[in-house]
Amino acid sequence: MTLQVDVVTLAPDMWHIMDQGVVGRAKSSQIWSQTLWQLRDFSERDDKRVDDRAYGGGPGMVLSPPPLRRCLEHILKQYPNKPMIIQMDPAGQTLDDQLVDHLATQSNLVVLCGRYEGIDARITQHYVDLSISTGPYVLSGGDLPGMCLIDAVVRQLPGALGNQHSAEQDSYAQGLLDHPHFTRPEVDASGIVPEVLTSGNHADIVRWRRKMALGRTWANQPHLLQGQSLSQEDIKLLQAYIKEHI
Ligand code: SAH
Repeated sequence: MTLQVDVVTLAPDMWHIMDQGVVGRAKSSQIWSQTLWQLRDFSERDDKRVDDRAYGGGPGMVLSPPPLRRCLEHILKQYPNKPMIIQMDPAGQTLDDQLVDHLATQSNLVVLCGRYEGIDARITQHYVDLSISTGPYVLSGGDLPGMCLIDAVVRQLPGALGNQHSAEQDSYAQGLLDHPHFTRPEVDASGIVPEVLTSGNHADIVRWRRKMALGRTWANQPHLLQGQSLSQEDIKLLQAYIKEHI
């Protein structure tokens, strides 16, 4: 099954980045496909403007309903089942691993990228299923957040990553952050690879990685540990990490 993504944007050229790397390869392999819709093409004004001043005053322009509505209706006409319409919005639900997994089960996503002060709230009310924020900060447009979202979703699709197991081991997938990674050379001017990783003792390596994953989660994102029932072994590993790092 191919994931079809329709993007409504004022900056379609930015999305060419999605032809790169893992996500680009997945697109070439038809694991997903992308259709870009230039919102200006749906403006009926001679100057192709799609924004207007805000009712009630204040600085900044708002994306006006008619072009958005025409564009969305045009997209919706192409599908027998209504696709999920997502608005990129700093005031939306924060994107996380669970939401990414949920979106990766969909067959169609429409991504609405805002600009200026955002889009007229009537469009949100009438069409949008989900408003998603990539984090508690404000960017100048919805394209970068939209690409973050689609990148995260695509790498969860079967076949997108070379090794099917790499996504399972990534940060968040098991409720923990990933352990650190090392590769050759064993000795470099920047440091030495931890001895355990070159010991060949598989059980020790597994324990070390688990200890580092638990420790980094505890140090960097402790909220992820809340509500997790850690085994006696995990508690010992975490205590060892804390002892070594404090
Ligand atoms: N006035 C808005 C900000 C508009 S920023 C507010 O204060 O909430 C312009 C557009 O950029 C938004 O419509 C949205 O599509 C996008 N955007 C900016 N920051 C974002 C974020 N953190 N997550 C998702 N989209 C974001």
